[in-house]
Amino acid sequence: MKSPRLTILNFHKTFPDNDTCLRFLLSARFPRPKCKTCGGTKFYKHPTRACFTCAKGCTHLWPKEGTIFGHSSTDLVKWFFAIFLMSQSRNGVAAKELERALGVTYKCAFRIGHQVRKLMKDNAFALFGEIEADETAVGGKRKGKRGRGAEGKTIVFGQLQRKGMMNAAIVENVKAATLIPHMQDNIAKGSKLMTDELKSYKKIARLLEMEHDTVVHGAKQYAKENGTHTNTIEGFWSQLKRSLDGTHHIISPKMLHAYVSEFQWRYNNRQSMTHLFELLLSRVSSRQGLGA
Ligand SMILES: [Zn+2]
Repeated sequence: MKSPRLTILNFHKTFPDNDTCLRFLLSARFPRPKCKTCGGTKFYKHPTRACFTCAKGCTHLWPKEGTIFGHSSTDLVKWFFAIFLMSQSRNGVAAKELERALGVTYKCAFRIGHQVRKLMKDNAFALFGEIEADETAVGGKRKGKRGRGAEGKTIVFGQLQRKGMMNAAIVENVKAATLIPHMQDNIAKGSKLMTDELKSYKKIARLLEMEHDTVVHGAKQYAKENGTHTNTIEGFWSQLKRSLDGTHHIISPKMLHAYVSEFQWRYNNRQSMTHLFELLLSRVSSRQGLGA
């Protein structure tokens, strides 16, 4: 059965206030709460603090502790709403937008955005079959030639299995030696690699003994009749860049990796937006959310 579309209205019905969010967090983190002192299993919400107290009053359970909400004095329901908004957006949510939607300061909105982004990280996926690999330069216009890449550009390298998952990572340069570790760990033997004419890929394909075909972008060749092209991953790059320009405007190279993971995560979970919100909530109390 198709799950119902998540609307803002549904969200507010499910999570109307801080207590509901805290109870949700309690059951996610302590499915069978038990008092360490008396062994009791009955806990009551503390009237003023963000914790639950054993019926005999001996111990407290703090559901927020250790999570991305841990040291925040911002209402939990605002955090949940930020997670909802960020899970339902195709282009990401700017700090400015969060500031307005949550009614918090810009500084607070910025911090919340980055904390939620921490939940959007995946390990690299194993890829198999038709793989497009490509790299792109993001950002720039920094003065001088310091830092990595030409004129302050940051290089993002990606590998994408057609109709499957993709991995993206920030790399120092596009030398074969730099890219090989990303590819040999993630691309299964027997896959076919498709790239543009960059020499590194030829070298990598030879070293990893992979079937390899190229399109020569320099000669305005974008697709071959045999199906070789890199248009899928280039579509991902343009989506990423559009979102970075249109939503976030300025991104420091230091922060870029978080946005790249976010967009990789969006792409890899592109089938279900409803699922995304639940997935993020479940991660609050998983290893990722607890920073383990
Ligand atoms: Zn007790």
